Amino acid sequence: MTMPSVKRVLLKLSGEVLMGGQQFGIDPTIVSELAREVKAAKDSGLEICLVIGGGNIFRGMAGAAQGMDRAQADYMGMLATVMNALAMQNALEQLGVHTRVQSAVQMDQVCEPVIRRRAERHLEKGRIVIFAAGVGSPYFTTDSGAALRAAEMKCDALLKGTSVDGVYDDDPKKNSNATRFETVSYDRVLADNLKVMDASAVALCRDNDIPIVVFSIREKGNLARVLSGEGVQTIVQKEA
Ligand code: UDP
Repeated sequence: MTMPSVKRVLLKLSGEVLMGGQQFGIDPTIVSELAREVKAAKDSGLEICLVIGGGNIFRGMAGAAQGMDRAQADYMGMLATVMNALAMQNALEQLGVHTRVQSAVQMDQVCEPVIRRRAERHLEKGRIVIFAAGVGSPYFTTDSGAALRAAEMKCDALLKGTSVDGVYDDDPKKNSNATRFETVSYDRVLADNLKVMDASAVALCRDNDIPIVVFSIREKGNLARVLSGEGVQTIVQKEA
């Protein structure tokens, strides 16, 4: 399956990739490596919107499981995504890449609020826009934030860089016979509850016809390989 031809992409990185080999938090060496990959993608001529999760620091569900109020815990998770966004901004700027962070939870001293037209202008000027704090509401995830920003910024694809190299018909960590899909439809992902992104994010991509490209960001150079059509990935799209 060939990659869709893309000019503007939304790249979603799960928070856990930022912690590298650590159990928690941000590994600045890994963030720099990721920033180099993002810069290479930008230098190839792409316009890039970035969304980074917060799972390396705090997940609302985990807080709720320990007795916290879910919404309160989710706000903490959103703040975690802002920290990750700032770490990535720092790493990208150290490489000379111009960036702006826009947060769905307003934080004037730290970054801009999400303003679509302003984000559009940043992209025109060759800046990378890092969207933080997901959709800005509890009970959502940064996957939904990524799908929402991909839709409003009219991205040609949502690239989900994670720790597995695609979508499998079963959990590859538990079942060695699990097979990876080259392509799979949005409806199959939703009907079979395949682990791609949460259902609201998949549905938003389906309704706006945005292909989701799931690939491993843990392997060096993989983002460039995926973008050039030579990588290993699964593409979630409309039924052929
Ligand atoms: N979160 C939220 N609303 C959003 C985005 C994120 O409440 O729109 C919270 C939620 O608690 C989530 C946490 O932020 O668990 C971190 O985001 P996520 O779990 O998506 O990070 P990832 O798994 O991608 O690292």
